[in-house]
Amino acid sequence: ILRVSISPLKVDNRVNGAVISLEDITELKRLDQVKAELVANMSHEIKTPLTSIKGFAETLLDGAMDDRETCRRFLTIIDSEADRMSRLINDSLTLSRLESQDRNISIEPINLHELIVNILDMVDSSAKTKNIDVTFYDQATDMKIDGNEDRMHQLMLNLIDNAIKYTPSGGKVTITIKDEGEDAFISVKDTGIGIAKEHMPRLFERFYRVDKGRSRNMGGTGLGLAIVKHVVMSMNGTIDVNSELGRGTEFIVRLPKHYSAHPSDPVAD
Ligand code: ADP
Repeated sequence: ILRVSISPLKVDNRVNGAVISLEDITELKRLDQVKAELVANMSHEIKTPLTSIKGFAETLLDGAMDDRETCRRFLTIIDSEADRMSRLINDSLTLSRLESQDRNISIEPINLHELIVNILDMVDSSAKTKNIDVTFYDQATDMKIDGNEDRMHQLMLNLIDNAIKYTPSGGKVTITIKDEGEDAFISVKDTGIGIAKEHMPRLFERFYRVDKGRSRNMGGTGLGLAIVKHVVMSMNGTIDVNSELGRGTEFIVRLPKHYSAHPSDPVAD
């Protein structure tokens, strides 16, 4: 797409010709479109819980409040929808911070073992409720990797949380870390529902979900994997997915143990 602009060329205050300038605005237009889509998606995502909150609140005010049991049930829904909205906003903020290519972010050596054990404590009760067996194989002794602890925490939490969310009761989640010399190898593997091949190319897009209904019921925001991918890219790492429908999924992350910033490189999308 070209933008053509014509302006008069004046010499001694008399129009003496014209300057025609051509500017390629294809990329600008594309960015505008991406931005517009994002705002539309975000508004839709916020509207859904909001509609539900409003609906249940109105029904309560219309008289449903008189029945204690109904009242409790509706308030529980309102409460969890409000939680989902707040997760949505937090995840969006995390993503936009990641995208703003913050060069002041602190990079420190992270003890991966400790970080994962902390996360396993956090997810322990949801795994127990679903009777999911979570195992951690640490095949790297005291491995440290350079990175930002909060971001790394978010990355691992999102992968482990998904593995538990998308695995039916009685399943297994296995986390393995290995020292590969230059790189740290991290695998989060589950025996869950799996992901069909056709969804793979779009999996890391924000708000992309294989099954919208299921994701919503699980309290998902559709932003988890977009955050994971951004963190991996910001650490110059790679992420791969192996999955078989109905059998399970494995996410494999490789991160260089020693971080080297490339100030001229933009953070990849
Ligand atoms: P959500 O909040 O919906 O979980 P994510 O960005 O974390 O969003 O994941 C995007 C989609 O990828 C999910 O909605 C789900 O369909 C699929 N997905 C992610 N992790 C797994 C997994 N371990 N097993 C099966 N499907 C998964």
